[in-house]
Amino acid sequence: MRSSLLDRFVVGIFFLVTLTLSAAEPGRLSLLFLGDNAGHRPAERFRILAPELKKRGIDLIYTDRLDDLNPATLKNYAGLVIYANQTKITPDQESALLDYVASGKGFVPLHCASYCFLNSPKYIELVGAQFRSHESGTFRTTLAETNHPILKGFRGFESWDETYLHTKHNPKDRTVLEYRIEGKLREPWTWTRTHGKGRVFYTAWGHDHRTWENPGFQNLVERGIRWACGGDPTVVPPFSDQTSMTPLAKDAPPFEYVPAKLPFYPGGTRWGTTAEPLTTMRNSVWKESRGHADWVAHQKFGYQGFGC
Ligand SMILES: [Zn+2]
Repeated sequence: MRSSLLDRFVVGIFFLVTLTLSAAEPGRLSLLFLGDNAGHRPAERFRILAPELKKRGIDLIYTDRLDDLNPATLKNYAGLVIYANQTKITPDQESALLDYVASGKGFVPLHCASYCFLNSPKYIELVGAQFRSHESGTFRTTLAETNHPILKGFRGFESWDETYLHTKHNPKDRTVLEYRIEGKLREPWTWTRTHGKGRVFYTAWGHDHRTWENPGFQNLVERGIRWACGGDPTVVPPFSDQTSMTPLAKDAPPFEYVPAKLPFYPGGTRWGTTAEPLTTMRNSVWKESRGHADWVAHQKFGYQGFGC
């Protein structure tokens, strides 16, 4: 009996220490991820994103239970991600969500979350707009507010996705970070909001695995989560899926030219039409394109045009 009590005591202490250590692990964020069993397959998308964010110190905990929108459950998390098309929210769940965000927590509605809880104008105001309609295509967005901490070091990405249009925009306390531009259309695409002491990050990206598997999307969502939870999004590595131009060398010597005799075929004339031969050529072009042997040969003997 005594040993059994002791065992329980030791096990109890062990769990207490484990719990304390995990709760106190510095820098980690824990967010509830609310999905459902509808067409956007949130559980599948969660399985793509959660391991990537875990490596980055962000733990997503999946649920499809609307009952989890209650103060006792929500208070365990730094933020709430929604990727779902639940049509209705009860008044209790609605106030739990609004109070939770207003108290200073993070709220991260992704893609179809702007067409969730259709019975709640307050939810739509909180998100910042409601989804209206879409076609689809492969596109990039145009960054605005590039000084916003979420966009520091982020250059955008290209993906196939649904071309969301929104309605019921709520520009109050909203900052648009990305637009989707198509002809004259300039559709707010990614934005932040504040709500009381809380912060909202929304992006319309994210219909299916093509975007969820895109490192640019994962990078953007991490930035959004960190910002929404009151953290520093600039700790997220820079991201670009486009190669940048090599900057011009400032210390490069000026071009050198050497005498030459090169046939000149003016553009736009009949095939074979020649004009006066060119009498100089750039040294460096010759060196780089033909190699050292040809360069030496040129210096020693001179070339009469290209022999290729
Ligand atoms: Zn979709």
